[in-house]
Amino acid sequence: MKSAEIRQAFLQFFNSKEHSIVPSSSLIPGNDPTLLFTNAGMVQFKDVFIGEDKRSYTRATSSQRCVRAGGKHNDLENVGYTARHHTFFEMLGNFSFGDYFKESAIKYAWEFLTSKEWMAIPAEKLWVTVYSEDDEAFDIWATQIGVPKDRIIRIGDNKGGRYNSDNFWAMGDTGPCGPCTEIFYDHGESIWGGPPGSPEEDGDRYIEIWNIVFMQFNRTPDGAMNPLPAPSVDTGMGLERVAAVMQDVHSNYEIDLFQNLLNATAEATNSTDLENKSLRVIADHLRSCAFLVVDGVLPSNEGRGYVLRRIMRRAIRHGHKLGQTNAFFHKLVSALVKEMGEAYPELAQAQAQVEKVFLLEEEQFAKTLEKGMAVLESALAQLSGKELSGDVAFTLYDTYGFPLDLTADIIRERDLTIDEARYDELMTQQREMSRAAGQFKVDYSNVVQLDGATEFLGYSELENSGVVT
Ligand code: ATP
Ligand code: MG
Ligand code: MG
Ligand code: MG
Repeated sequence: MKSAEIRQAFLQFFNSKEHSIVPSSSLIPGNDPTLLFTNAGMVQFKDVFIGEDKRSYTRATSSQRCVRAGGKHNDLENVGYTARHHTFFEMLGNFSFGDYFKESAIKYAWEFLTSKEWMAIPAEKLWVTVYSEDDEAFDIWATQIGVPKDRIIRIGDNKGGRYNSDNFWAMGDTGPCGPCTEIFYDHGESIWGGPPGSPEEDGDRYIEIWNIVFMQFNRTPDGAMNPLPAPSVDTGMGLERVAAVMQDVHSNYEIDLFQNLLNATAEATNSTDLENKSLRVIADHLRSCAFLVVDGVLPSNEGRGYVLRRIMRRAIRHGHKLGQTNAFFHKLVSALVKEMGEAYPELAQAQAQVEKVFLLEEEQFAKTLEKGMAVLESALAQLSGKELSGDVAFTLYDTYGFPLDLTADIIRERDLTIDEARYDELMTQQREMSRAAGQFKVDYSNVVQLDGATEFLGYSELENSGVVT
């Protein structure tokens, strides 16, 4: 089954259960300046959950474009290292606004995944987790669905694993939240990893495919958990992850959609090794960068625009690593439009604009990338310990336009770290001296018109999480 067919089947399935099909909203949350990007399907329904907005329906389904590259859900560092994380992905979801609750939510999910008419995934490959205290969900799985009890795992709040697995889902530091139950697929013995809750859970053998959240609370800035007007349901399943299952491949990067993007990336960078990690990073970043531009974000030195710039420069640097010194990133937009333009007409419409923005950023970064790499290489050649000095990282940022995480991405490949405390000190000094950042200045005003400039107020939260550097 192709990705596009799975997307279609999902919407159709829930439509047949009286869910209204709602189009994906923008990556820029409509009226939520605390949230960096739309990171889940529920974001456009946030006000419906908390009772401040009413819709003509109480059941909805969508395929939502999501970006997780900053804020509470940040997967940027996972891209290229896991089989399952992207910065941009599509989240298939079904939602109940005070309509059905735990029992139906679990039954629908199970029917879609296992019934012969739909995905027909063998039940014995599926594992589930429930929130540690949620006996009701445990019972539904065990007695009504018939999942063997040794494949139902209780998970608490935050166990502090590498990927912070927990069974209490929250959109951000504030907003709707609640206990959840998740469905995992076992990709088989040949892959390293253990079931959720085990010491080996960070491996990629058992991959989470679907999260079903029982929305019950609204967390306010003072930390209070106020009950929602009515218990609700919010679910999210990664289209790319379920496509990997349906196409019988392990990694998301092996699905139809990504294979085509990887081939285009290999061609544009003259690469022959299709397994090269850099190709995956570029193909991933292509999607987040393109859709962010489609939704009105432009590379800049602040807020959302700076996140876009960081992702784009990472992609460009990986192209450089593959030996590509000419601008290549903008050439990939047409391949993306071919893959996703039908499902997202707004992408097809914006193709020329996206290409222009990409090319401009590539030209801008090309002026300093080569020299910056030389500075870094020479510092690394002289390095005695395992830590790059904050001074070098700062020079790379300040003079050569290397965002800190880009430098970190390079030196992580060599098992090194950065003295971030020193870097932060230099950044603070510089901020005090001047807020202007000359080397990042690009004038986009002739290229694109920014409609409804995107306001973003969550800087302090971002700084705390190390996103804005
Ligand atoms: P993981 O533990 O694998 O990082 P998650 O628990 O953070 O996933 P949720 O917030 O529960 O993910 O999101 C719901 C679903 O969206 C997941 O079950 C998964 O299928 C998908 N998903 C989440 N993050 C990503 C990502 N970075 N790339 C692709 N799909 C994702
Ligand atoms: Mg995650
Ligand atoms: Mg998880
Ligand atoms: Mg989850």
